Amino acid sequence: MDADLERYRRQVRLPEIGEDGQRRLRASSVLVAGCGALGSVAAVLLVRAGVGRVVVADRDIVDRANLHRQLLYDDDDAATPTPKAQAAARHLARANPDVRCEAVVADLDRTNVPRLVESVDLVIDGADNYELRFLVNEACVRAGRPFVSGAAIGTYGLQFTVLPGETACYACLVDEIPAPGTTPTCETAGILGTVSTIVAATQATEALKVLTGRRDRVRRTLWAFDAWEGTRSEVAIVRRTGADGCPVCAQGRYDWLEGRLGGPAVRLCGRDMVQVPPPAGGRVDLDAVAAGLPADAGVFRSPFLLRFTARGCEVTLFPDGRALVRGTDDPGRARAIVAEHLGM
Ligand SMILES: [Zn+2]
Repeated sequence: MDADLERYRRQVRLPEIGEDGQRRLRASSVLVAGCGALGSVAAVLLVRAGVGRVVVADRDIVDRANLHRQLLYDDDDAATPTPKAQAAARHLARANPDVRCEAVVADLDRTNVPRLVESVDLVIDGADNYELRFLVNEACVRAGRPFVSGAAIGTYGLQFTVLPGETACYACLVDEIPAPGTTPTCETAGILGTVSTIVAATQATEALKVLTGRRDRVRRTLWAFDAWEGTRSEVAIVRRTGADGCPVCAQGRYDWLEGRLGGPAVRLCGRDMVQVPPPAGGRVDLDAVAAGLPADAGVFRSPFLLRFTARGCEVTLFPDGRALVRGTDDPGRARAIVAEHLGM
């Protein structure tokens, strides 16, 4: 075996990988879109497996409440405000200096996602909100890049891989974004760290199949499990083809990429405040959002708004879904805080 493969010898020994597969990994590149519980764990698994280039992109900073599940970060990262992407790239480079790790500290939106997706062979879904997942799905379908999606909440996880042109895409699976405030989030429902880790490891496994040239081995079903109950299921996702089929993979409409859906968060000049635009899906159920808040969130409710504190910021949420976040001038951080409570 070549000396440069020595590090991976126990992986190369697997007939599923072999020397050829290992060389393919080194020649391949991955975008990790969102570096939370799924993205950070999938990233470190792929870096240790020897993927040649890994781009980690995230808008948020490391928070102590992340550490029970986001295995890549440590207490020092949370002690001072550290962008997740930056902390991730630093830890990843130490895990395997052979791999090129690039940090993108940015709110992923339609202005930067297409370029990032086109620069890699495959994308890992590390999104904490539907909006980003739809946007990245569109970019992946348009550019023909596999999109390895995943999600985890409570004790429940699921995983589904989009192979553009071969399988259903994410928009075939979820045809409409649930109304904001109606779906649980990790902040409101909690999350077991083992669950997100299982999902992330499954995403990394499917990615390794694609990148080693074994695309034929990728599971073509939606896989779901409850880790606490020990139950699992698999569902075939039908590709919605035809003229009235999936807007993205059948009709070639890219509403998120082309700005017909979604919009940018705007910093309000000189006020230490960011305005986060309404998510797609219309009005927000403020009572439902309020019900999910912890007792110490300082909740104020009027017919016109809901105000509460989260992660040191004051969030004012309006029934149309618009939010003002006081206490930060960072649009990415503001969006992250709002997304934690709206599941958007
Ligand atoms: Zn589709």
